[in-house]
Amino acid sequence: MADKLVIPRAQWLALMAELRRRGGGRTESGAFLLGKRQGDRRLFERCVFYDELDANAYSTGVCVLYADAFERLWEFCRTTGLQVLADIHTHGGAATQSEADRCNPMIARPGHMALIVERFASSPVWRHRMGLYQYEGAHAWINLSGWRSRRILKTGTFA
Ligand SMILES: [Zn+2]
Repeated sequence: MADKLVIPRAQWLALMAELRRRGGGRTESGAFLLGKRQGDRRLFERCVFYDELDANAYSTGVCVLYADAFERLWEFCRTTGLQVLADIHTHGGAATQSEADRCNPMIARPGHMALIVERFASSPVWRHRMGLYQYEGAHAWINLSGWRSRRILKTGTFA
């Protein structure tokens, strides 16, 4: 069973709004979700948007990051003590992995999760319509999208 990814509701909604704004309904946008692991739970604390790592990250219309963006990301993780829990990006159309998404994991580490949001994250965003994939290594992924994702992606109000 995959880990649970726990994102408090207010932060989840803010993340969706920010993805929507940064893509402007014209380009994809994306972010790394950072936080800490606790047993089989990945507890979200904050995100770093791709365009914070590279101002041109969306200039081709799809999300592209180069090595220096990753250096900035790792530096940020070192200074904050946070880990990359997952990445998330938008698609203009459906939230299924593209060939590029499948072949080029943002973090090529087994267990890494990649989320995709349809329609440039326009409102409302439904979890069961999102793409949720877990990387297994060697360009293989487990597709956890659809209703299953509701057991993995927890976006409720937590005490
Ligand atoms: Zn994609």
